[in-house]
Amino acid sequence: MLVVGAGLSGVGAGYHLQTECPQRSYAILEARDCIGGTWDLFRYPGIRSDSDMFTLGYSFRPWQSDKSIADGPSILSYVRETARENGIDRKIRFRHRVLSAEWSTEDQRWTVEAQRTDGGETTRITAGFLFMCTGYYRYDEGYTPEFRGTERFKGRIVHPQFWSEDIDYAGKRVVVIGSGATSVTLVPALAEKAEHVTMLQRSPSYIVSLPAEDPLAKRARRVLPERIAYALVRWKNVLLMMLSFQLSRRRPELMKRLVRKGLEHNLPPGYDIDKDFNPRYNPWDQRLCLVPDGDLFEAIGHGRASIVTDEIDTFTERGIRLASGGELEADLIVTATGLNMLALGATQFAVDGRPVELPKTMAYRGMMLSGVPNMAMAFGYTNASWTLKCDLTCEFVCRFLNHMDAHAYTQCVARPDPTVAERPLMDLSSGYVQRSIANFPRQGSRRPWRMYNNYALDILNLRRSPIEDGVLEFSRGRTSAAVQGRDALAAAA
Ligand SMILES: Cc1cc2nc3c(=O)[nH]c(=O)nc-3n(C[C@H](O)[C@H](O)[C@H](O)COP(=O)(O)OP(=O)(O)OC[C@H]3O[C@@H](n4cnc5c(N)ncnc54)[C@H](O)[C@@H]3O)c2cc1C
Repeated sequence: MLVVGAGLSGVGAGYHLQTECPQRSYAILEARDCIGGTWDLFRYPGIRSDSDMFTLGYSFRPWQSDKSIADGPSILSYVRETARENGIDRKIRFRHRVLSAEWSTEDQRWTVEAQRTDGGETTRITAGFLFMCTGYYRYDEGYTPEFRGTERFKGRIVHPQFWSEDIDYAGKRVVVIGSGATSVTLVPALAEKAEHVTMLQRSPSYIVSLPAEDPLAKRARRVLPERIAYALVRWKNVLLMMLSFQLSRRRPELMKRLVRKGLEHNLPPGYDIDKDFNPRYNPWDQRLCLVPDGDLFEAIGHGRASIVTDEIDTFTERGIRLASGGELEADLIVTATGLNMLALGATQFAVDGRPVELPKTMAYRGMMLSGVPNMAMAFGYTNASWTLKCDLTCEFVCRFLNHMDAHAYTQCVARPDPTVAERPLMDLSSGYVQRSIANFPRQGSRRPWRMYNNYALDILNLRRSPIEDGVLEFSRGRTSAAVQGRDALAAAA
């Protein structure tokens, strides 16, 4: 087994493999020189989860802090401790960037080419099965739209993905461009030291305040064993998340009213909610933004931060001139304008010499690609915590690996079904999704090709459904000829 990526998903995959498929050996290839992926890469002030840790945490390792919305360094420690406690860290080969992977039906093997990110040389590694845990976005660049006049600006411009320790914002005027999760995280954090922070948004997002600490978690931990308390809070949060998503999709007007009530409660009296907090889309057409204990609203209430809804005409020497004519003066401009999505860590796949075109493949249960043998990917939820789906994916992968081993199969492939209509892999209207989703595999219009983004349904589908479902095709290749001979002899006897 070769796992690619040592972030939250890759470490989780390592745990599931070694506990549920102990007969298999595995290694993890990681391009960077450390564990943690997202939670090591992002270093901007205030970096935190935007879903609760009782569901972003692994099913097998309780999240022990009272904080439900946790800061990035705590999440990083949690992932690293999981790796260390379980010896997963010893399986990782750092500084190996996977460039390509070719499946040979004759050899029943993947040959993976990885480039050493320290020396530059490439190495080849073979494996019977590939598990891609590469996340979903580019690490080497963030997304910044073309803004006119950036070269004129005398201050500093930084993308949050490349925040560094030397950026001094104390006592400075800061403009944060964007209205997504990163922006609403950055603004209150920067406002603690800056002279003033302006969040400049072209269009608003839905923003909901949640308690940073989960009151049920605190109480449950006092009276229940840790694992039971964790499971209880996890399920409470799963159900709340599902309720919020279903309500948004089925009764968007009711959801809008609920969000608005929260805003009216949290914002200063008389605030023009229609101007700054009234998105053009329905709730959950894009991810809802969470703010712990209303920190963003508090910063606005104290006058340390403000929101401007307008378009950028041009950067100037002193700041940003707005389409409406005003100018925002700034010493530092943070372009919280998003990520560039990337499928499967940019790995070039081929099967028996034929390159795999990802957009022409369909994701079986959101985890295997049609026509690509012995490969799975960890692709989490976008409407709930990523890890919920990754844990279930790992369990399913282990279940079918055990099925393969029990029957001495060496190959498993999801056969494409031309009667299934194609749909985009992610059903969100957000800019970062729309810019790149055409380069990703598709999902299908019906089971088992459709992703329901519903944890309860996925538990039934992934934990209970039979492995031999008529779509997954298992076979024994040449390398298992001896086993086939044994089976034939057994049948004859
Ligand atoms: C700022 C931010 C906040 C977020 N907050 C939340 C949240 O609150 N809740 C939530 O559910 N999700 C959140 N997400 C999404 C988040 O990415 C996932 O929750 C999760 O961390 C993804 O883990 P991962 O291991 O799948 O991917 P990553 O964390 O991206 O890790 C992938 C790893 O694979 C390695 N890799 C990639 N390609 C290759 C290659 N070709 N060869 C070798 N190694 C490779 C990378 O170096 C990296 O270490 C957030 C994302 C961001 C950017």
